[in-house]
Amino acid sequence: MSKVFEIIEKEQKRQNETIELIASENFVSENVLKAVGSCLTNKYAEGYPEIERHSGNQGRYYGGCVYIDELEEYCCDQWRKVFHTDYHVNVQPHSGSQANFAAYMAVLRPGDTIVSMDLNNGGHLTHGSSVNFSGKLYNMVFYNTDENGFIDYEDIYEKVRQHKPALVLAGASAYPREIDFSKISDNIDKAVRDSNACDGTDYKRPFFMVDMAHIAGLVAAGEHTSPFGIADIITTTTHKTLRGTRGGLIFCKPELAKKVDSAVFPGSQGGGLQHIVAGKAVTAEEACTDAYKQYIQQVVRNSKAMAKRFKELGYDLVTGGTDNHLLLIDFSKTHPQLTGKDVQDELDKHGITLNKNCVPREKRSPKQASGVRIGTAAMTTRGYKEEDFIKVADRINEILQNM
Ligand SMILES: *Cc1c(COP(=O)(O)O)cnc(C)c1O
Repeated sequence: MSKVFEIIEKEQKRQNETIELIASENFVSENVLKAVGSCLTNKYAEGYPEIERHSGNQGRYYGGCVYIDELEEYCCDQWRKVFHTDYHVNVQPHSGSQANFAAYMAVLRPGDTIVSMDLNNGGHLTHGSSVNFSGKLYNMVFYNTDENGFIDYEDIYEKVRQHKPALVLAGASAYPREIDFSKISDNIDKAVRDSNACDGTDYKRPFFMVDMAHIAGLVAAGEHTSPFGIADIITTTTHKTLRGTRGGLIFCKPELAKKVDSAVFPGSQGGGLQHIVAGKAVTAEEACTDAYKQYIQQVVRNSKAMAKRFKELGYDLVTGGTDNHLLLIDFSKTHPQLTGKDVQDELDKHGITLNKNCVPREKRSPKQASGVRIGTAAMTTRGYKEEDFIKVADRINEILQNM
């Protein structure tokens, strides 16, 4: 037997024996595993199937794509069904980062200005971090969260009015509250109007992009307001709350379809990973079921129950609680001696997996950080209910008290 399978077996055991609280992880179904482990990995299929092709794109570059085409068209249809939308969808991005790269490429030129939320406030690397392509290729302007960690919507208005970006980005990797997409869109309109009235210029409305990588499952289940109909471009991963194969998706208004498709292929990727497209199609089928809806409702109930318990135990939560699948504990006031890194390492020793996270007004480096992020999506898949998460909160408290 290959050494690889020994390693996989060890990892399987680790997954079975730990309490998984990393907010971006989940456990996929047997069917998703079967699809991504299928013979579709053998097939080259650069390009797009006929129906998803928009004038200018060349269809497929290889023969033998008849079933691959059927699969990709089915996959696109299923994802539109998940989000009840007629937006165009590209199911080929290899990951969330690749989806964001292609989305920017579709509508921006290097040097253009993007207004987004930075990593320290809960944004993602690809939202303009200086060590990421996004921070190197584009002129980034960041909006802030207030002292309690809530998005400062007024600051979005200010930043757009002052900097006249080509794109405004909403979405986060570590934000425990519902994001008001309509409010952001209204603030963009208002900023464009005021900017033009004030300077006598003709600044056009920037593109509004939503990266819903974390909350996509909640959007699908109706537990978070939907960005469809509001945002011009929507990117997501399929492996977080959507509980599917690792991968990315880009949705856009139909008029941007050709630009988005070209930015994915040939703009930034070669042949699609068709076994992963199959995994994404199974993920979409599952996300349409009532069982999935109930799962997401349980994820949110669990997150709220755990947040309440941590508060009872004297912990400080960023924004004081949660509306979604994750919560952020801020140790800076209540436990100033604890760093996020030390907590992460100590919990690791006790079989509890989570990650350190920056908090609002962070004083430590991101490598240390003063908080941790906790998500309930993975263990809810394992069957945990409110009382189980309350027990986990108690156990974490016990471990921290002995640190
Ligand atoms: C996870 C995440 C991504 C990137 O996903 P990868 O598949 O890891 O590249 C992008 N944006 C946000 C907001 C995320 O949380």
